[in-house]
Amino acid sequence: MATALITGSARGIGAAIALRLAKDGYNIALNDISEAMFEDNDIMDKIKAEGVECEKFICDVSSYAQVEETVKAVKARFGTIDVLVNNAGITRDGLMARMSEEQYDMVVAVNQKSVFNMSKFVGSVMMRQKSGKIINLASVAGLYGNPGQINYSATKAAIVGMTKTVAKELGSRGITCNAVAPGFIKTPMTDKLTDAQKQAMINQIAMKRYGEVDEIAGVVSFLASKDASYVTGQVIEISGGLMM
Ligand code: NAP
Repeated sequence: MATALITGSARGIGAAIALRLAKDGYNIALNDISEAMFEDNDIMDKIKAEGVECEKFICDVSSYAQVEETVKAVKARFGTIDVLVNNAGITRDGLMARMSEEQYDMVVAVNQKSVFNMSKFVGSVMMRQKSGKIINLASVAGLYGNPGQINYSATKAAIVGMTKTVAKELGSRGITCNAVAPGFIKTPMTDKLTDAQKQAMINQIAMKRYGEVDEIAGVVSFLASKDASYVTGQVIEISGGLMM
């Protein structure tokens, strides 16, 4: 049975993607930065109820050494890694004039370096398999910019470049690499925004509503499927028509 590894998947979009890929028949390797992230939810039980195997791998995806060990452990447990979803991400928002160096560096480490770490080590497993699908979580903030998010938008724009580079480097080995760029999706990450910020965002969305996590998971499921076998290096915006 094929295996999917989803980073930052204890909750939010990552958990929805993990459950959707379980429904699609993949064994699931969950990941999050701490065990505590799994205590408040029943994501492992929900995935196992789909009749697939599921294991969690605690690791800070910004750490090169921890990612190397985790990828070895996932490969040892499941035998193959067929789908990698680079989902883990954080925000440390603030206007540029007030943003600290620490705020900037932390977001770059977690959102951007993690994609290098995971893609390098999982990519090496996939190259030996001569197949694989890598799907990265970018953001509309990386495509259009967003005030208060110079750190976050930098990492999400970088992910677009990384997606195209990985697609070009690994394409001849039967590996595809694509990105999705969500707009405003209902998760703990966006719950932190004020009501005024949320309303301002909705006013700009053609569909006049937030997105649901399952609406991201569905597109990731497509990119992981055989139907997307000739799609690579692409960025699919999932924003209810935020920008056109
Ligand atoms: P979320 O609810 O905050 O979930 C992200 C998960 O990743 C959390 O469980 C988080 O744990 C974990 N994580 C953080 N740092 C980590 C690390 N170093 N190593 C491993 N796991 C780590 O976020 P989300 O809204 O589902 O977002 C998922 C992805 O979609 C992110 O890449 C985000 O940038 C992107 N995205 C989201 C939206 C949106 O509207 N929500 C829009 C565009 C793009 P902690 O809670 O401990 O940090």
